[in-house]
Amino acid sequence: MIEIQNIHKSFGDNHVLNGIDATFEPGKVSLIIGGSGSGKSTLLKCIVGLHEPEEGHVFFDAQEFTVMNADERVSIRREIGMLFQNSALFDSMTVEQNIVFALDMFTDMSRKEKLERANFCLDRVNLKDTNKLYPSELSGGMKKRVGIARAISMSPKYLFCDEPNSGLDPATAILIDELIQELTEEYQCTTIVVTHDMNSVMGIGDYILFLYKGMKFWEGSNKDMLQSDVQELNDFVFASPL
Ligand code: ADP
Ligand code: MG
Repeated sequence: MIEIQNIHKSFGDNHVLNGIDATFEPGKVSLIIGGSGSGKSTLLKCIVGLHEPEEGHVFFDAQEFTVMNADERVSIRREIGMLFQNSALFDSMTVEQNIVFALDMFTDMSRKEKLERANFCLDRVNLKDTNKLYPSELSGGMKKRVGIARAISMSPKYLFCDEPNSGLDPATAILIDELIQELTEEYQCTTIVVTHDMNSVMGIGDYILFLYKGMKFWEGSNKDMLQSDVQELNDFVFASPL
């Protein structure tokens, strides 16, 4: 479980996050949604420690991350799998090497174990025969799946995905969402997905945190959202293009 309390973050005069509270449950997919510039990515970065909030607290299973020093944070970082918005693969490395590289940094597995783990994860995301290919030889959806394979390679307790559907056609986007949902159940990880894709909201949002101008505008389940005037919310999200 991840709990955040009263998160404030500014860049100069731009007060981007204005006291956000939320609880993200294990084994569930939580979504952070909102229009462009509403602070979604900034909030995710505050949670993983890529930004330091000026105020507020982040807890990973009751351990306060925000008061830890860099060394203390390493143990939590090892338990985080992250899918970056642009997949962030190294173009000069094969698919397999991209995953082994991540395992090199965070584990002391033998080379054989790392290769086995990398190929197990590629198989899990249905990319068995691509291990020797380079990212430039893959489609957008395949790159996302490599990013996901890398994110799960360390059996994460926490899985974070920033815009996993960006640049994908709707059918591929649904497959990626389904994969994230399945992996969340399999690993019972606490999953947070930043998205502006309303189809995802309907498909996988166990809990939805809706940001507007750095404030919590709405929170609830996708069922709650269906019962509320979802069309208005939908229009609201798309009112400001991403
Ligand atoms: P979203 O992901 O919801 O589109 P962001 O969290 O990326 O929004 O950005 C929210 C606001 O914070 C924007 O006004 C953006 O310009 C600003 N911002 C984000 N990151 C930085 C940064 N590293 N430096 C300065 N301003 C930033
Ligand atoms: Mg963003």
